[in-house]
Amino acid sequence: MSDHAHPAPPSEALSFDFVPRRAAGLARLADFVPRAGKAYAFERNYDWGPDKRQNISGLSPYIRHRLITEAEVCRAVLDQHLESEARAFLHEVAWRTYWKGWLEQRPQVWRDYRLAVTRRVRAMEKSPSLLAAFDEAVDGQTGIDCFDAWTHELRQTGYLHNHARMWFASIWIFSLRLPWELGADFFLRHLVDGDAASNTLSWRWVAGLHTQGKHYLATVENITAFTSGRFNPRRKFIDDNARPLNWDDVGEIEPLAAPPAYDPGLRTGVLLTDEDLNPESWAWRPGEVAAVAGLASVDLRSPIDAGELARRFSHAALSDGLSRASALFGQPTQRLDDSDWVSSLQAWAKDNGLEQIVTAHAPQGPVAERLAATRRKLEPLGIQIAELTRAWDTTAWPHATKGFFQFREVIPALVKLP
Ligand SMILES: Cc1cc2nc3c(=O)[nH]c(=O)nc-3n(C[C@H](O)[C@H](O)[C@H](O)COP(=O)(O)OP(=O)(O)OC[C@H]3O[C@@H](n4cnc5c(N)ncnc54)[C@H](O)[C@@H]3O)c2cc1C
Repeated sequence: MSDHAHPAPPSEALSFDFVPRRAAGLARLADFVPRAGKAYAFERNYDWGPDKRQNISGLSPYIRHRLITEAEVCRAVLDQHLESEARAFLHEVAWRTYWKGWLEQRPQVWRDYRLAVTRRVRAMEKSPSLLAAFDEAVDGQTGIDCFDAWTHELRQTGYLHNHARMWFASIWIFSLRLPWELGADFFLRHLVDGDAASNTLSWRWVAGLHTQGKHYLATVENITAFTSGRFNPRRKFIDDNARPLNWDDVGEIEPLAAPPAYDPGLRTGVLLTDEDLNPESWAWRPGEVAAVAGLASVDLRSPIDAGELARRFSHAALSDGLSRASALFGQPTQRLDDSDWVSSLQAWAKDNGLEQIVTAHAPQGPVAERLAATRRKLEPLGIQIAELTRAWDTTAWPHATKGFFQFREVIPALVKLP
């Protein structure tokens, strides 16, 4: 792209203020929708800095926690734009769904990542040189001005522009030569939209582990052009010639299995988690729910403590979900102790005489891990754990078997789901 084709950054300021409530997500959506068409397609790749966010939506923390759903985001966009004009935006929303469906069919990739993070953290504790290099990176002290600025921005705001995430991951892996899993873990701990699938698989994509032989290399020219000259890193710091990491074969696809179904005949409690905070979009009958409780999973993202902004967002988003659920079901709600899901859920079920706990289907990630472990303990005690699925996921995920190129075929039908 020649210089004159680059749009000028806007003169007015617009920063993201991530208020962890559904109402704030809907307000952000309404504000952004007029810009979701051609303007988004042309300008979305520019990172004009944290005070100039007009060109992107800032919806990721809301979509990540399903304070708002992908379906309602796409409906709102298609109410104001032709599909052909909003295609770039609709495709970005679909990337999240693609990553979710891809990981759902390769649970081993998530399990391997979890083990690798633990192994890498232990290895680092025994290697002073690795620890020093890691500390420099996560403290923003590498001397690479753009990288250090993004580190501070991530810690101070809980957010980075998509292009900055790509450059950051590329410099982490190929210039600083740090283990990719530790970088992914750093992101997952601090991002207010930190998500098992989008984060892990994007890091793997940058590293060259998603598509054999294809990796993403940050270059000085690209960073300078797409930050509109805010950064111009010294060439010697950026390795734009590195080879992809060694390809690891992820093995066979595991077919998608229907999660345990909800039985309306059993005395039921609803469990909300920070995976899906949208109870109003399920079809409930009056009086169907005897109790409502909430559990947060943000502290399960990593063996290292989660960042304060990410923790605050997830906990407050859960509170918002619970207060909406309380109005919806006409029941008081309870925040359970997050440190021991089995004991918390067992005690809650006993206190309320529950035969069944129903929750939104949790895709691969910390909530799914905890639910699987809890199910093994509670089912022998006569307490079922059922999971509700969404048409968005069940329609899309079976198509996430190969690359995004093939997955795109389902998008026109997906975005028109009621
Ligand atoms: C290394 C790396 C790590 C990432 N980690 C996460 C993560 O933990 N959680 C997360 O939600 N996204 C992650 N992303 C994807 C993307 O960077 C963010 O979703 C996006 O920057 C959020 O800003 P936005 O809401 O303004 O996006 P917009 O450009 O306005 O896009 C609208 C929505 O589409 C989805 N989306 C957009 N781009 C992508 C993408 N490349 N992959 C998946 N979904 C996308 C998001 O839900 C987003 O809110 C990561 C990308 C990279 C390169």
